Amino acid sequence: MRALTFLARRFVAGETTAESVAAVKKLNKKGLRATLDFLGEDTEDESQASAAADEYVRLLSAIHESGVDANVSLKLTQFGLNLGTAVAKRNLGRVLEEAKRRGNFVRVDMEGSAWTQATLDLVLDAHKSFGNVGTVLQAMLRRTVGDAALLSKAGVKVRLCKGAYKEPSEVAFAQKEEVNANYDAVARDLLDNGPFPAIATHDDARIAAVLAHAKAKKIPADRYEFQMLYGLRARRWTELAGQGLGMRVYVPYGAHWFPYFYRRLRERKENVLFVAKSFFKG
Ligand SMILES: Cc1cc2nc3c(=O)[nH]c(=O)nc-3n(C[C@H](O)[C@H](O)[C@H](O)COP(=O)(O)OP(=O)(O)OC[C@H]3O[C@@H](n4cnc5c(N)ncnc54)[C@H](O)[C@@H]3O)c2cc1C
Repeated sequence: MRALTFLARRFVAGETTAESVAAVKKLNKKGLRATLDFLGEDTEDESQASAAADEYVRLLSAIHESGVDANVSLKLTQFGLNLGTAVAKRNLGRVLEEAKRRGNFVRVDMEGSAWTQATLDLVLDAHKSFGNVGTVLQAMLRRTVGDAALLSKAGVKVRLCKGAYKEPSEVAFAQKEEVNANYDAVARDLLDNGPFPAIATHDDARIAAVLAHAKAKKIPADRYEFQMLYGLRARRWTELAGQGLGMRVYVPYGAHWFPYFYRRLRERKENVLFVAKSFFKG
């Protein structure tokens, strides 16, 4: 278990709020923005869900006091969506209120397709009450084109990713090529119609497609940003930022790192090789 904790450190900034803020300071010095994620999902009871919201309130205060350039990302099953919409709504509301007071922004991550509709419903509702909330759409899902149009119309900021969860073919594209084609199409739509889209990918072909579209449509670099995950392609972050493009790094922290770590290993064989090599090096 201790060896795994060591390996997860490539993808996770630390266990505490202080460690996560220290990691963001280093990123900010290189011209990179951050979004902080207190790891957790599938909360088992209301007190855990409420404790997660408490941590986000503390985190928003730590961001404010340290003056770092960071917003926050959270998961609704960490806030109790699996225990009922009302629980998640109450916890999300507490965090949004604090973020509003601090002039900050909250991104609601997207989880497996069983949660897509409930997440969008809660985000649309919260956006009406608080404004400072956005969410995530997954290019692998067939419904995403429609969801992107709906969120753009409502003025909700979208982060576009490919999707990290295993999904049945009724709801998701099975082939990588289909996911990529959908990614490019939805990215174009968000660039044209959405408020400040976040292009979240490590895939150079997707990044190139976005840059080509922005150039053709004369969309300036301050109307969107790129996002990548902590521990993945650090050199590329600074390359893109060096070209005057916005780059935000998603920085997870906390003790509940295993499901996040497992998704990173599952989606890319090189991430598994990194873990294997570290084991053999002893
Ligand atoms: C900021 C951010 C937030 C996210 N939030 C969510 C979320 O809320 N919900 C969700 O379901 N998923 C989320 N994800 C995860 C996402 O859905 C994907 O699972 C993950 O990003 C892998 O997809 P990819 O677009 O990077 O491309 P992949 O299909 O994994 O990789 C495509 C290509 O990119 C290049 N590449 C990828 N990694 C590397 C590397 N380390 N070094 C060199 N080249 C590389 C290679 O050419 C590779 O073939 C998020 C991802 C990011 C970046």
